[in-house]
Amino acid sequence: MSHDVRNRLSALRRAFHRHPEPAWCEFRTTARIVAELERIGVDELIVGRDALASEHRMAVPPSETIHEWRDRAADAGVPTAVLDATADGHTGVVATVHAGDGPSVALRADMDAVSIPESTEPGHRPADEGFRSETDGYMHACGHDAHPAVALGVLEAVVASDFSGTFTVLFQPAEEVAGGGKPLAEGGSVDDVDYLLAFHLGLGYPTGTVVAGATEPLAMAHITATFEGASAHAGKDPSGGTNAMQAMTTAVQNAYGIARHGDGMTRVNFGRVEGGSASNVIAEEVTLDGEVRGGTTALMEYTRAELERVLYAAAELHDCDVVIRRISESISVDSDPTLAGLVADVARDVPAIDTVVPAAPLGASEDATFLMDRVHANGGRSSYLVIGTDHSTSHHTPTFDVDECSLDVAVEVLTDVVSSIGERRP
Ligand SMILES: [Zn+2]
Ligand SMILES: [Zn+2]
Repeated sequence: MSHDVRNRLSALRRAFHRHPEPAWCEFRTTARIVAELERIGVDELIVGRDALASEHRMAVPPSETIHEWRDRAADAGVPTAVLDATADGHTGVVATVHAGDGPSVALRADMDAVSIPESTEPGHRPADEGFRSETDGYMHACGHDAHPAVALGVLEAVVASDFSGTFTVLFQPAEEVAGGGKPLAEGGSVDDVDYLLAFHLGLGYPTGTVVAGATEPLAMAHITATFEGASAHAGKDPSGGTNAMQAMTTAVQNAYGIARHGDGMTRVNFGRVEGGSASNVIAEEVTLDGEVRGGTTALMEYTRAELERVLYAAAELHDCDVVIRRISESISVDSDPTLAGLVADVARDVPAIDTVVPAAPLGASEDATFLMDRVHANGGRSSYLVIGTDHSTSHHTPTFDVDECSLDVAVEVLTDVVSSIGERRP
């Protein structure tokens, strides 16, 4: 790979890193991707709303939040055409090149940031080298700045190669909240795809390692539960109210007591609580923010059903009401073993790769599974690759950073896989 390309990949990744945007607010990120796609030259470019089944979007933030980020993007010079196409939280891009007869291959990359502040400490490369987040409270702490840079690098390499077939790159919004995979899948972009590749950098694997096909991504459901009671004076009339705080604590205690399932792993967690008004007031309203996960979609659904039963029962016990909102969810889909086998064979021939892991459990949740599921349902194959990168600290921490040498490696592995599929007939 030439130095020019290598430098361009790092520069692009750093540009994304400097301007992190949260789920459904990736306006500036979308615009930068569109600009790069126009430079590369593609046959079809679908920006924003037209690529998404809008009604399937999940975990969409309030419209004030979306408008705030849109205005920020407008101030940064994002073209009106992109702002119009992505209006009201319809971010993302799908780009396609037609290169003669052959299979239809797709690559999916996510692009959203995490809502944590980035470290300013010396020793944190983005701080030392001047590409730290310029947006307080948000950071690319999962590598989703590197993912679109890699995907653009692959597209450019495929366009320049003798690949024969159709190649589509999906720049998916809102992965961190499991919100974007489903509307993109329902939007139809992968309906004719024979081979889908999705990937993530890092996840504990060092530069030079590739997991050819991740398995057992955890199915996940994010919910909130708002307990509604009635306030009263805590000294004079404690029995006059109905206590939403009591209902909430009962729910939390019993949620963690949901029976394990004999078929496999389940998880439940509440990570945030908000409510009440003062120490001398019986709490009128309390909201819990939580999630369940399962080793399979059915195990997630079992745990979610049990959790909802516990929430209703806790409300009933304390004479309160509860409103349960299903914020988002993702399903569990394994990589196709045949395609993973091909990825492993190709990766073994890439000089920068020293370790190929044929298959390994992902251990996290991923909403690329909706796209994978759609491809499998139509008779195609998909694989979820983990491409190693030496990362400074674990994902979702303020000092997370990727090894930029792994960007080239990722481009090489993915390009070689696409080319090798292009040499086959579906
Ligand atoms: Zn993440
Ligand atoms: Zn991630």
